[in-house]
Amino acid sequence: MDFTLNAEQQMIRNLCREFAEEEIKPRAEEMDRCGAFPYDLIRKMGELGLLGLPFPEEYGGAGADFLTYCIALEEIGRGDAAVGITMEAHTSLGASPFFLYGSEEQKQRYLVPLARGEQLWAFGLTEPGAGSDSAGTQTRAELRDGRWHINGAKNFITNAGTDMTGGVTITAVTGMRADGHKEITNLIVPKGTQGYIIGNPYHKMGWRASDTRPLSFEDCQVPEGDVLGKPGDGFHQFMHILDAGRVAIGALSVGLAQACLDESLKYANERQQFGRPIAAFQAVQFKLADMATEIELARLMYYKAAWLSMQEQPFTREASMAKLFASETAKRCADQAVQIHGGYGFMDEYPVSRYWRNVKVHEIGEGTSEVQRLLIAKHL
Ligand SMILES: Cc1cc2nc3c(=O)[nH]c(=O)nc-3n(C[C@H](O)[C@H](O)[C@H](O)COP(=O)(O)OP(=O)(O)OC[C@H]3O[C@@H](n4cnc5c(N)ncnc54)[C@H](O)[C@@H]3O)c2cc1C
Repeated sequence: MDFTLNAEQQMIRNLCREFAEEEIKPRAEEMDRCGAFPYDLIRKMGELGLLGLPFPEEYGGAGADFLTYCIALEEIGRGDAAVGITMEAHTSLGASPFFLYGSEEQKQRYLVPLARGEQLWAFGLTEPGAGSDSAGTQTRAELRDGRWHINGAKNFITNAGTDMTGGVTITAVTGMRADGHKEITNLIVPKGTQGYIIGNPYHKMGWRASDTRPLSFEDCQVPEGDVLGKPGDGFHQFMHILDAGRVAIGALSVGLAQACLDESLKYANERQQFGRPIAAFQAVQFKLADMATEIELARLMYYKAAWLSMQEQPFTREASMAKLFASETAKRCADQAVQIHGGYGFMDEYPVSRYWRNVKVHEIGEGTSEVQRLLIAKHL
């Protein structure tokens, strides 16, 4: 077994590490405090090719493999989780459905500007009454006179309302199947479509510089052709999209966990108590050793899930395991990082207090820890 990253993977990792260290991390505190979307950073990431990493060059992407994209996310997330989730939601949830299921015309029209980083795109699955129960979609779309008429609402949608956003792909019920289940279809809704209403951004505990909004649809009409794949394929499509998305959230969580370890190591060597750096105390060393060990394991888990996906082998179970373990590792690391910082860790001036707030949502977004455990159990 060869764990060596290839030249391209190392190059992208180094590029993202440098970008995160020099451009993202120094601004993370201010972005979090102001809750302002960092347009200049996101545009720069687009110019560097980071918003279209796993898509072929012919569609404006960088032609990298899925693992390379995940490694890039780890590094960007190490700089700031809010910037990381903006990249992840755009790539895994916004752009990849066009690549996987879009017609050639849809790929040219939608995927190319997304992969080039000229636009962002959102994916709207969650609803006020349908979160973990994602098949409980209430939003309906009726086909009349060659147009889909959409009515309903979506909650907590990332990247839906930025100035760079081109639109959202949503799940909607378009009928009933013979087996009594809802027929779910993915519909493309460009920003500015009449009847598509984008709500104000939420005030959030973490990921504060990312854009998250409620959406509503009041007789919103899109042409019959603005369907992703075939009508009725929506459920199968978003299950696959979420599998890959969970590997990516695993990578993002490893980045956040690593940032907790970085800050803890630095602080433990600087802070003196009882005439010695606190890193000299075995109780602190054990915390650092546990953090490093769990991070290593979480990283290997997302590497393996990404590798399985690249081999076109089933990876649902491994994706859920990677997401579950990495997000819970990041939570434990954030907790220990604050503990190692003592009272200073409770103060806004120290990044670890932000990491502690940011980490919670990693156990919720793209399927809660409970949902991951259900999926893993189903595959045992
Ligand atoms: C910042 C942020 C960004 C997001 N971005 C997006 C996005 O871009 N697109 C999108 O579609 N969604 C997005 N989401 C939504 C996210 O995926 C959901 O919040 C998540 O799936 C949980 O759904 P819910 O919030 O409705 O919680 P619920 O489903 O109501 O869950 C509440 C609690 O009940 C538990 N629970 C529910 N069902 C079961 C069960 N069967 N067994 C055991 N426990 C159960 C859950 O684990 C949880 O602890 C985002 C959420 C946040 C917070």
